[in-house]
Amino acid sequence: MLSILRKKLKQGIEKISRKVSSTRIIREEDLEDALWDFEVSLLEGDVAQEVAEKIISDVKASLVGRKGPVRKLLLDTIRKSLLEIVSVEPLEIKPRKKPWVVLFLGFNGSGKTTSVAKFGKILRDSGFSVVFAAADTFRAAAIEQLKVHGQTLGIRVISQGYGSDPAAVVYDAINHAKSRGVDAVLVDTAGRSHSNRNLMEELRKIVRVGKPDLKVLVIDSLTGNDVVEQVRLFDGAVGVDAFVFTKFDVCEKGGSVLSALFTLKRPVLFLSSGQGYDEVLEFDPKAFVDNLINTEK
Ligand code: GDP
Repeated sequence: MLSILRKKLKQGIEKISRKVSSTRIIREEDLEDALWDFEVSLLEGDVAQEVAEKIISDVKASLVGRKGPVRKLLLDTIRKSLLEIVSVEPLEIKPRKKPWVVLFLGFNGSGKTTSVAKFGKILRDSGFSVVFAAADTFRAAAIEQLKVHGQTLGIRVISQGYGSDPAAVVYDAINHAKSRGVDAVLVDTAGRSHSNRNLMEELRKIVRVGKPDLKVLVIDSLTGNDVVEQVRLFDGAVGVDAFVFTKFDVCEKGGSVLSALFTLKRPVLFLSSGQGYDEVLEFDPKAFVDNLINTEK
């Protein structure tokens, strides 16, 4: 995991340290070429421009005016910079009211349905009762897919037909939960794309009707620079309270996690790291940074 970004960071650090290992006081000009290369490497690691600029500017601020060798200072600076970006509050996984309504948002294929299923299992394994709301009525297969997860996990799925009003599905699911004393309603929604305004309207309606307690944006961690736009799009439309990053098991770059958390400081519900229900990792900001940059290596 994250091997490409780790390598890019390491190369950047070596290159900058070599560049300034003289005995002269470091001037901005001395760093220019190495920092430019470093910025390009970060972008290649799927780190968004703004995030790369923050890291570069932190490095500049800490190195200019110093005398070499600077390797240790550089490592500490980049580590601190990364930690600032990914430090988010932990999120307690516990229904805070009954029913606790959690809405999963995100692009098609980002891993929403899988994440709904995984979160359902987490809650169920902690002793809470759960229903799923199949509010992705835009894709017939999505309803079926959620039903299969529901069957496997023994979690009831509230659904209507393909093309039906997703807000009505959510309304039904909440009523069902209220009448049966179910602890949590997890809502799967249709994938959005930038151009599809109707789907965004539909999402706003779901939020008006369902008044979710938590709106979780599911992000495919393989997403490139587009992630900033995705975060702004969903946060602008309905507000995002937390993230899930999926496909972490096959994620070599990881810049998308940095970019999303830099754009919007929100807790991470979990990292999804495989297709199996239990393939879930807790997001630990310090461990994430340690994995990227290790002062010992
Ligand atoms: P949705 O369209 O957002 O609901 O996405 P799905 O939940 O249907 O997931 C899309 C594809 O990604 C499916 O093939 C999933 O099995 C796969 N997938 C979801 N999460 C993960 C993950 O954490 N790791 C891997 N490797 N695949 C995942």
